Amino acid sequence: MKNLNLLLLLFLLLPNLIFGQTEGERPNIILIFVDDLGYTDVGFNRDANFIEEYGIIPTPEIDALASGGVVAKNAHVAHPFCGPSRAALMTGVYPHRICAQYNLPNDLDSDFGVSADETFFSKVLQDNNYNTAAIGKWHLGVGNEFIPNNRGFDYFFGMIGGGHEYFESIYEPTWIANGGNTTNEYRVPLLRNTDYVAPSEFENDEYLTDILTEETVNYINENGASPDPFFIYLAYNAPHTPLQAPAADIAQFKADNPNFESLVANSPDILSANIPNNWNGTPEEYRASLVEDRIIYATMVSIMDRGIGQVKDAVDANGITDNTLIIFMSDNGGKLRQAGAVNYPLTAGKGSTDEGGHRVPMLFNWPNTLPAGANYDHLVSSLDLYPSFLALADAAVPTGKLLEGKTIMNNLITNQDARSEESIYVMRPFFGFHNGAVMNGNYKISKKGNNPNASAWKLYDIINDPGEQTNIRGTLPNGEQIVNDILEEAVTWVSDFQDVDPCWYDHNNPHPHEALWNNGSLPRYEALFGLPLGLNEFVDNPFRIFPNPTNGHFTLSFENYISELEIDVLSQTGRLIKKINGNNTSSQDINISELPAGFYIVKIMGDNKIAIEKIIKL
Ligand code: CA
Repeated sequence: MKNLNLLLLLFLLLPNLIFGQTEGERPNIILIFVDDLGYTDVGFNRDANFIEEYGIIPTPEIDALASGGVVAKNAHVAHPFCGPSRAALMTGVYPHRICAQYNLPNDLDSDFGVSADETFFSKVLQDNNYNTAAIGKWHLGVGNEFIPNNRGFDYFFGMIGGGHEYFESIYEPTWIANGGNTTNEYRVPLLRNTDYVAPSEFENDEYLTDILTEETVNYINENGASPDPFFIYLAYNAPHTPLQAPAADIAQFKADNPNFESLVANSPDILSANIPNNWNGTPEEYRASLVEDRIIYATMVSIMDRGIGQVKDAVDANGITDNTLIIFMSDNGGKLRQAGAVNYPLTAGKGSTDEGGHRVPMLFNWPNTLPAGANYDHLVSSLDLYPSFLALADAAVPTGKLLEGKTIMNNLITNQDARSEESIYVMRPFFGFHNGAVMNGNYKISKKGNNPNASAWKLYDIINDPGEQTNIRGTLPNGEQIVNDILEEAVTWVSDFQDVDPCWYDHNNPHPHEALWNNGSLPRYEALFGLPLGLNEFVDNPFRIFPNPTNGHFTLSFENYISELEIDVLSQTGRLIKKINGNNTSSQDINISELPAGFYIVKIMGDNKIAIEKIIKL
C-alpha cells in the first residue's frame, strides 16, 4: 500500500517534471536515425549470451549515451524497410494508411512523395518556434512539395533519395559523365537546402558520415545559444549499403580489433550463407568476402559512433547538456551477411516480420530528466515520437490529425507501459499475401506465408524469447484466447484502411505485387487476417448462396436485380481461379464442379458493392 501511494505521488509530480516547463525550458531534441543497423551491433544491446563469432563492434560513444539514459530494448519501427519506416516516423501513422507502404523508386525525376496533406512533426515543431534541421538521408519524396524545406525544416543538408555513395570520388565522375543529368539518387552531389553542394567544399574525398557529423556539429554551435530550442533530425545513411569506408579506418579497425576477422570467419550467419548462383569463386572465397563485408560494415559503424561522440561533445561544449534530449535508433533491422549486419539473438533481418526486421536498437538520453542506466522493456514504437515531441514542445496536435503512437516520456521515467492493452503492427506484402506481426504487451503473434487461416498465427513471448524460438499458442493455458483477442483488435485496425492502394511502388511497372492491390484478383489484407470473409456491402440488396454440395454448383440469389454482376472464385491463398459474369440478374449459377474439394473464396461485385464469402466444395 505504501508503494502504491508512492507511485501515486510520483504520478502527481511527474507532469511537472516534463510537461510543466515554461516556454524557455523546452528541450533541444536530436533524433539520430540510422540506417539498417543490426540490433546487436551496438554494445548496449549485447549481453553475456552474445556469440563472439558474430563479431563484436565496439560502440563506446553510443554506449555512453545508453548508460547515461534509458535503453528501450523492445522498440519497433512501423515497417521493416527504409522509406515506409520514415514515412511513419514523420507522420505518426502507419505507412499503409497513407499509401506509403513501399520504398520510393530510385528516380530523381519521379514526382512521388509522402502526401503533403500529412503534417510532419517537424512542421509542428517549426510552427512552435523550434529551429529545425534535417541532416542526412531523406527518402520521403523528391518533388517540390515533399522536400525537407517544405516539410518543416529550416535547414537541410544531405541526400534526398534512399541512399548515397560515401565518397565523392565515386559519385562525382558518374555525375559529370552524365552531364549532371543522372536520375540515380545515389550518384548526385549532396544538397544544401535545394542546391547541390560544390565538390570543392570537401577536401581529400571526405567520408560522407564525417561530413554529416560536421554539419550537425556546426548546426549545434550556431543554434546552441539561441533562445529558441532546436530539433535536429540526423539521419546517417550508415551503415546501409554500399559498404564503403576509408582504407585507413578499415586498417585501424582491424588493428584495434585483432581477433575480429578470425572470429567472424566462424560466424553462424556466414557459415550458413547460401552461395549465390552467380558467384564465380569457391564457397570458401564467398565466405571470405562475407567476412570482409562484415569488417567494412563494422568500420562504418565505428565511424558513425565516433561522429555521435562529436555530436555529444558539441552539446556539452555549448552548455546545453541538461536541456538536450538525444534519441538514437535504427530505421529498420540490420541486413545480414552481404550487407554486414548482425541481429542475433533476433531472427532474420531487414524486410522481415520476424524481430530482426523491425525491432531496433533505441536509447533516450536526457541528463537529469530521464534516469541513467535504466531499461524500458515495454513496447516502444517509432510512432510514439511524434506525440512525445509535440508534448515536449508544448505544441498542440494539428486539428484532425490522427496519431497512432503514445506519449511516452513520462513512462520512460516511471517504467510504466504506455500502451498496456494496445497493439503495434508490422506488415510486409508479398506476391499475393502479407506477412504480418502484431505485438501486444509481452506477446507477439506472427504469420508468414500464404496460409489464410487464423490458426496459422503463432504466439511468442518476445520478452523472454526475443528470438521467437518457441510458439506458445498451444502450450500457454490461455494461448488461444490471447491470439484471438489480438486478432480481433487487428481486424478492426486494418479495416479502417483496407481499401487504400499504394501511391507508388519501389520499382517499375508492372510491379509483381500489383495484383495484391489494384486489379482485385488477390486479397489485400484478408489473407493475413481472414478479414473480409463475411464482408458484405449489399445491405440494401441482400443475397444468399444456396449450395448444392453434391454436384459442385452454388446458386447466388439476390433480392433485387444487379445490372452488372461479377464473381471471382479465388483459392484460399487468393489466387484467381475463374471469373463469372452476369447481366440484369438476381440469380447466378456458380459452377465449381471442375475444381477439387475444399474451401474457396467468392468475391461478389456489382452495383459498386462488394461482398466476400467462403464456400466449401465437398
Ligand atoms: Ca533502412
